[in-house]
Amino acid sequence: MFEDTLLKEYKFKSVYNFLSIISDAIENKFDFWNFDGEQFVKSALRFNKVSLLHIYVSGTLYCYYRGVFRKSGDLIEEDDIEWWINLMKEYGIKLKKPKSCDDYDFAWKWFNMNEEKFMQFFDTISDEIVHILFNDKLLLVKFNQIVRNVLLDENGTYADIVEWPKDSRNENGTIKRCHIPKWVKRAVFHRDKGHCVCCNRDLSGIISILHNNNFDHIVPLKDYGTNDPCNIQLTCEQCNKSKGAKNIIAKYKYQSWW
Ligand SMILES: [Zn+2]
Repeated sequence: MFEDTLLKEYKFKSVYNFLSIISDAIENKFDFWNFDGEQFVKSALRFNKVSLLHIYVSGTLYCYYRGVFRKSGDLIEEDDIEWWINLMKEYGIKLKKPKSCDDYDFAWKWFNMNEEKFMQFFDTISDEIVHILFNDKLLLVKFNQIVRNVLLDENGTYADIVEWPKDSRNENGTIKRCHIPKWVKRAVFHRDKGHCVCCNRDLSGIISILHNNNFDHIVPLKDYGTNDPCNIQLTCEQCNKSKGAKNIIAKYKYQSWW
Protein backbone atom coordinates (compact mmCIF):
# COMPACT_ATOMS: atom_id res chain seq x y z
CA MET A 1 0.00 0.00 0.00
CA PHE A 2 1.21 3.44 -0.90
CA GLU A 3 1.30 5.63 2.15
CA ASP A 4 -1.19 8.45 2.04
CA THR A 5 1.37 10.84 3.48
CA LEU A 6 3.29 10.62 0.22
CA LEU A 7 0.30 11.77 -1.78
CA LYS A 8 -0.36 15.43 -2.22
CA GLU A 9 -3.70 16.80 -3.16
CA TYR A 10 -3.21 19.41 -5.82
CA LYS A 11 -5.99 21.75 -6.81
CA PHE A 12 -4.70 23.05 -10.14
CA LYS A 13 -7.00 26.05 -10.00
CA SER A 14 -6.01 28.47 -12.77
CA VAL A 15 -2.55 26.92 -12.61
CA TYR A 16 -2.23 26.91 -16.40
CA ASN A 17 -2.44 30.72 -16.44
CA PHE A 18 0.57 30.80 -14.18
CA LEU A 19 2.37 28.09 -16.11
CA SER A 20 2.23 30.14 -19.29
CA ILE A 21 3.83 33.11 -17.50
CA ILE A 22 6.64 30.87 -16.25
CA SER A 23 7.26 29.12 -19.54
CA ASP A 24 7.34 32.53 -21.31
CA ALA A 25 9.83 33.80 -18.72
CA ILE A 26 12.08 30.75 -19.21
CA GLU A 27 11.77 30.88 -23.02
CA ASN A 28 12.80 34.53 -22.94
CA LYS A 29 15.62 33.78 -20.50
CA PHE A 30 14.34 36.15 -17.85
CA ASP A 31 16.65 36.35 -14.89
CA PHE A 32 15.84 35.42 -11.38
CA TRP A 33 14.00 38.65 -10.66
CA ASN A 34 13.30 38.62 -7.05
CA PHE A 35 14.98 35.94 -5.06
CA ASP A 36 16.29 35.21 -1.64
CA GLY A 37 20.06 34.77 -2.08
CA GLU A 38 20.36 32.58 0.99
CA GLN A 39 17.65 30.20 -0.23
CA PHE A 40 19.20 30.17 -3.71
CA VAL A 41 22.60 29.11 -2.33
CA LYS A 42 21.00 26.45 -0.14
CA SER A 43 19.14 24.92 -3.07
CA ALA A 44 22.05 25.20 -5.52
CA LEU A 45 24.65 23.52 -3.29
CA ARG A 46 22.71 20.51 -2.03
CA PHE A 47 19.61 18.75 -3.31
CA ASN A 48 16.69 20.50 -1.74
CA LYS A 49 12.98 19.76 -2.00
CA VAL A 50 12.45 23.49 -2.39
CA SER A 51 14.18 23.42 -5.76
CA LEU A 52 15.64 26.36 -7.65
CA LEU A 53 12.64 26.08 -9.94
CA HIS A 54 10.32 26.63 -6.97
CA ILE A 55 12.28 29.78 -6.10
CA TYR A 56 12.20 30.98 -9.69
CA VAL A 57 8.46 30.32 -10.04
CA SER A 58 7.37 32.14 -6.90
CA GLY A 59 9.77 35.07 -7.46
CA THR A 60 8.80 35.47 -11.10
CA LEU A 61 5.06 35.36 -10.42
CA TYR A 62 5.44 37.87 -7.60
CA CYS A 63 7.37 40.30 -9.80
CA TYR A 64 5.05 39.78 -12.74
CA TYR A 65 1.87 40.53 -10.81
CA ARG A 66 3.44 43.32 -8.83
CA GLY A 67 4.21 44.92 -12.21
CA VAL A 68 0.66 44.34 -13.44
CA PHE A 69 -0.90 45.92 -10.35
CA ARG A 70 1.53 48.84 -10.38
CA LYS A 71 1.45 49.66 -14.08
CA SER A 72 -2.07 48.79 -15.06
CA GLY A 73 -3.80 49.19 -11.74
CA ASP A 74 -6.38 51.47 -13.32
CA LEU A 75 -7.41 48.67 -15.71
CA ILE A 76 -8.06 46.26 -12.88
CA GLU A 77 -11.67 46.12 -11.82
CA GLU A 78 -13.61 44.87 -8.87
CA ASP A 79 -14.30 41.60 -10.70
CA ASP A 80 -10.58 40.92 -11.02
CA ILE A 81 -10.11 41.47 -7.29
CA GLU A 82 -12.99 39.07 -6.68
CA TRP A 83 -11.23 36.51 -8.92
CA TRP A 84 -8.08 36.66 -6.78
CA ILE A 85 -10.07 36.49 -3.55
CA ASN A 86 -11.94 33.37 -4.72
CA LEU A 87 -8.82 31.72 -6.12
CA MET A 88 -6.81 32.14 -2.93
CA LYS A 89 -9.76 30.99 -0.85
CA GLU A 90 -9.39 27.62 -2.63
CA TYR A 91 -5.89 27.43 -1.18
CA GLY A 92 -6.98 28.53 2.28
CA ILE A 93 -5.53 32.04 1.96
CA LYS A 94 -7.84 34.83 3.02
CA LEU A 95 -7.35 38.16 1.26
CA LYS A 96 -8.55 41.44 2.68
CA LYS A 97 -11.19 43.20 0.62
CA PRO A 98 -10.38 46.63 -0.83
CA LYS A 99 -11.40 49.52 1.39
CA SER A 100 -12.88 51.37 -1.55
CA CYS A 101 -12.86 50.84 -5.30
CA ASP A 102 -13.23 54.52 -6.22
CA ASP A 103 -9.59 55.63 -6.40
CA TYR A 104 -7.79 55.20 -9.71
CA ASP A 105 -5.03 53.29 -7.88
CA PHE A 106 -7.23 51.24 -5.56
CA ALA A 107 -5.96 47.97 -7.09
CA TRP A 108 -2.31 48.89 -6.43
CA LYS A 109 -3.15 49.86 -2.86
CA TRP A 110 -5.06 46.61 -2.45
CA PHE A 111 -2.10 44.58 -3.76
CA ASN A 112 0.24 46.27 -1.28
CA MET A 113 -2.19 45.67 1.54
CA ASN A 114 -2.20 41.94 0.67
CA GLU A 115 1.41 41.62 -0.47
CA GLU A 116 2.36 38.93 2.03
CA LYS A 117 -0.68 36.85 1.09
CA PHE A 118 0.33 37.06 -2.56
CA MET A 119 3.83 35.85 -1.68
CA GLN A 120 2.37 33.03 0.38
CA PHE A 121 0.09 32.08 -2.51
CA PHE A 122 2.90 32.07 -5.10
CA ASP A 123 4.98 29.87 -2.77
CA THR A 124 2.04 27.47 -2.47
CA ILE A 125 1.24 27.35 -6.18
CA SER A 126 4.93 26.89 -7.09
CA ASP A 127 4.66 23.28 -5.92
CA GLU A 128 1.89 22.54 -8.45
CA ILE A 129 3.76 24.36 -11.21
CA VAL A 130 7.03 22.49 -10.55
CA HIS A 131 5.07 19.22 -10.47
CA ILE A 132 4.05 19.87 -14.08
CA LEU A 133 7.25 21.48 -15.37
CA PHE A 134 9.49 18.76 -13.98
CA ASN A 135 8.28 16.63 -16.90
CA ASP A 136 9.29 19.18 -19.51
CA LYS A 137 12.96 18.42 -20.03
CA LEU A 138 13.28 20.88 -22.88
CA LEU A 139 12.24 23.66 -20.55
CA LEU A 140 14.44 22.31 -17.74
CA VAL A 141 17.53 22.61 -19.94
CA LYS A 142 16.70 26.26 -20.65
CA PHE A 143 15.97 26.86 -16.99
CA ASN A 144 19.30 25.39 -15.91
CA GLN A 145 21.04 27.71 -18.32
CA ILE A 146 19.38 30.68 -16.61
CA VAL A 147 20.62 29.31 -13.28
CA ARG A 148 24.10 28.98 -14.76
CA ASN A 149 24.10 32.71 -15.52
CA VAL A 150 23.57 33.47 -11.83
CA LEU A 151 26.58 31.31 -10.93
CA LEU A 152 28.76 32.87 -13.60
CA ASP A 153 27.84 36.41 -12.70
CA GLU A 154 30.49 36.60 -10.00
CA ASN A 155 30.98 40.35 -10.15
CA GLY A 156 27.71 41.36 -11.65
CA THR A 157 24.29 42.15 -10.34
CA TYR A 158 23.96 39.02 -8.22
CA ALA A 159 27.26 39.34 -6.43
CA ASP A 160 25.87 41.23 -3.46
CA ILE A 161 22.74 39.09 -3.23
CA VAL A 162 24.34 35.67 -3.32
CA GLU A 163 26.78 34.87 -0.55
CA TRP A 164 28.44 31.47 -0.79
CA PRO A 165 29.61 29.68 2.35
CA LYS A 166 33.34 29.01 2.59
CA ASP A 167 34.56 25.85 0.84
CA SER A 168 31.24 25.27 -0.91
CA ARG A 169 32.74 25.86 -4.33
CA ASN A 170 35.93 25.18 -6.24
CA GLU A 171 38.44 27.93 -6.96
CA ASN A 172 36.88 28.77 -10.30
CA GLY A 173 33.46 29.17 -8.70
CA THR A 174 31.93 25.85 -9.76
CA ILE A 175 29.87 23.95 -7.20
CA LYS A 176 31.34 20.85 -5.57
CA ARG A 177 29.78 17.45 -6.23
CA CYS A 178 27.57 15.98 -3.54
CA HIS A 179 25.62 12.83 -2.83
CA ILE A 180 22.36 12.49 -4.78
CA PRO A 181 19.60 11.53 -2.34
CA LYS A 182 17.21 8.65 -2.95
CA TRP A 183 14.17 10.90 -3.45
CA VAL A 184 15.92 12.68 -6.36
CA LYS A 185 16.93 9.38 -7.96
CA ARG A 186 13.42 8.04 -7.61
CA ALA A 187 11.86 11.15 -9.15
CA VAL A 188 14.31 11.26 -12.08
CA PHE A 189 14.07 7.51 -12.67
CA HIS A 190 10.28 7.67 -12.89
CA ARG A 191 10.21 10.83 -14.99
CA ASP A 192 12.69 9.37 -17.50
CA LYS A 193 10.82 6.06 -17.36
CA GLY A 194 13.96 4.07 -16.53
CA HIS A 195 15.55 4.79 -19.90
CA CYS A 196 18.78 6.60 -20.82
CA VAL A 197 17.67 10.01 -22.11
CA CYS A 198 20.42 9.92 -24.77
CA CYS A 199 20.30 6.45 -26.34
CA ASN A 200 17.02 5.19 -24.88
CA ARG A 201 18.68 2.11 -23.38
CA ASP A 202 16.54 0.37 -20.77
CA LEU A 203 18.03 1.01 -17.32
CA SER A 204 15.16 -0.39 -15.34
CA GLY A 205 17.46 -2.87 -13.63
CA ILE A 206 15.99 -5.98 -15.22
CA ILE A 207 19.01 -6.53 -17.44
CA SER A 208 21.68 -4.25 -16.01
CA ILE A 209 22.23 -2.82 -12.55
CA LEU A 210 21.57 0.85 -11.99
CA HIS A 211 24.74 2.68 -10.97
CA ASN A 212 25.20 5.91 -9.14
CA ASN A 213 26.74 7.46 -12.21
CA ASN A 214 23.54 6.86 -14.17
CA PHE A 215 22.37 10.12 -12.68
CA ASP A 216 23.79 12.90 -14.74
CA HIS A 217 23.81 16.68 -14.28
CA ILE A 218 21.99 18.27 -17.26
CA VAL A 219 24.24 21.32 -17.03
CA PRO A 220 27.47 19.69 -15.71
CA LEU A 221 28.93 20.96 -12.44
CA LYS A 222 32.13 21.73 -14.37
CA ASP A 223 30.09 24.06 -16.53
CA TYR A 224 28.51 25.88 -13.57
CA GLY A 225 25.57 23.53 -13.09
CA THR A 226 23.96 22.95 -9.69
CA ASN A 227 23.04 20.10 -7.35
CA ASP A 228 19.36 20.73 -7.95
CA PRO A 229 16.77 17.98 -8.60
CA CYS A 230 15.71 19.80 -11.79
CA ASN A 231 19.30 19.52 -13.09
CA ILE A 232 19.46 15.70 -13.03
CA GLN A 233 18.64 13.23 -15.79
CA LEU A 234 18.98 9.49 -16.31
CA THR A 235 21.77 8.29 -18.64
CA CYS A 236 23.59 5.05 -19.27
CA GLU A 237 27.27 4.84 -18.40
CA GLN A 238 28.49 5.09 -21.98
CA CYS A 239 26.43 8.19 -22.74
CA ASN A 240 27.41 9.74 -19.44
CA LYS A 241 31.12 9.19 -20.11
CA SER A 242 30.99 10.42 -23.69
CA LYS A 243 29.24 13.61 -22.72
CA GLY A 244 31.74 16.47 -22.56
CA ALA A 245 31.21 19.11 -19.91
CA LYS A 246 30.42 21.64 -22.59
CA ASN A 247 27.87 19.60 -24.46
CA ILE A 248 24.52 19.59 -22.85
CA ILE A 249 22.82 16.47 -24.12
CA ALA A 250 19.19 15.96 -23.46
CA LYS A 251 16.96 14.39 -26.01
CA TYR A 252 13.31 15.05 -25.80
CA LYS A 253 11.81 11.76 -26.75
CA TYR A 254 8.70 10.90 -24.88
CA GLN A 255 6.89 7.64 -24.78
CA SER A 256 3.39 8.37 -25.94
CA TRP A 257 0.52 7.42 -23.61
CA TRP A 258 -1.02 5.34 -26.42
ZN1 LIG B 1 22.76 5.95 -23.26
